[in-house]
Amino acid sequence: MVRARREHDVSMFTPTSATERPRLLAIQAARLFDGVGSEVIADPLVVLDGATIVSVQQGVKPPDGAEVVDLGGATLMPGLIDTHVHLVFDSGIDPVGMLAARTDDQALAAARDAALVALRGGVTTVRDLGDRNYLSLGLRDEPGLPTILSAGPPITTPGGHCHFLGGATDVTEEGVRAAVREHVERGVDVIKIMASGGTMTPGTRQEVAQFPAGVLRAAVQEAHLLGLVVTAHAHGTQAIRDAVDAGVDGMEHVSFWSAEGVDEPGDLIELIAERGITVGATVGVRPVPGDAPPPAVLSRLPLILENTRRLVEAGARVVAGTDAGIGPGKPHDVCRFAMPQLRDLGMDAAQALRAVTSVAAHVCGLSDRKGRVAAGFDADLLAVDGDPLTDPEAVHRISAVYHNGRAVTLSSPAVR
Ligand SMILES: [Zn+2]
Repeated sequence: MVRARREHDVSMFTPTSATERPRLLAIQAARLFDGVGSEVIADPLVVLDGATIVSVQQGVKPPDGAEVVDLGGATLMPGLIDTHVHLVFDSGIDPVGMLAARTDDQALAAARDAALVALRGGVTTVRDLGDRNYLSLGLRDEPGLPTILSAGPPITTPGGHCHFLGGATDVTEEGVRAAVREHVERGVDVIKIMASGGTMTPGTRQEVAQFPAGVLRAAVQEAHLLGLVVTAHAHGTQAIRDAVDAGVDGMEHVSFWSAEGVDEPGDLIELIAERGITVGATVGVRPVPGDAPPPAVLSRLPLILENTRRLVEAGARVVAGTDAGIGPGKPHDVCRFAMPQLRDLGMDAAQALRAVTSVAAHVCGLSDRKGRVAAGFDADLLAVDGDPLTDPEAVHRISAVYHNGRAVTLSSPAVR
């Protein structure tokens, strides 16, 4: 493991003269994947000035006076971005029950631990698409954690999917508009609305739309008026169609779930692609002996993945919205386990890496800051041992993680 603590970190906590300037940090590695390209670049030198990347060059010497870190045979790439996590869920066998048994203070402490797991696993930005009582918002600027975007409690119907998180609202246009406004007042980064039932909530059905189309549209309009993007949890075909018609920016799952199996999506594949609606595919599973998705998911999975493959083929923007936290196969650093499934969806290795870096940054509204290794971008970096374009396992061999220019302490070598 390469440790690269900056000597001036300590100056954050001790008085220093106003003119003292931390040294630049120059990172050398064997290869660089910059987040937008199709190939790796050999012999890169990435120079950081505090939290920002100031230059990315090839085959040059470090600038005079810079602190130098040589990562040897590693590949540098942007830190990973997971567009759909739940920090308050603990990745155990009963995350809902566990959360229900926790006070808000306990849930917040667990969410902090979850965020740390993500960061140590190379995930430098997470978008939390459902917490309880807006807890994840309180972690957003905490030093030592990844960058966190928060939706707060998902907007849902009384008794609807994830109602226990506290986001149930009247099923009227006024009701959802008020719910959106409350979320905006609390300072959320994105609106998450449950357009259909879901797997984790008994009494709801994935194939059934939760809101009338006009009510869903009102929620989206209100959010857009107030400057926020909306992503809709949408399993069933009716909910997907309503969400598309409502003008959502993104959808999660998009499984075309029916009572018996999985629907034929018909014109929706083309519509989703044409309108540039993001598809958060629920990919990424860490293999855990004895753990498997619920039977109802497992039996539908081949057809769900086939429909998602058609979305990729049609040119839709597909990212890994892993749903980290919802089970043992979904630890909070599960993002890198999404890569094989993204390739199964028809992406090549570089496209899969772009999906969890620059494309995910775009989805999070952070495309000017994150998801790329380029001058002017945030110094969020992941270094892995080997070449992730030719060796799919390389992403699991993490040798260094930087967030905002600071080396993350990797508690132990990351293992599968
Ligand atoms: Zn979710």
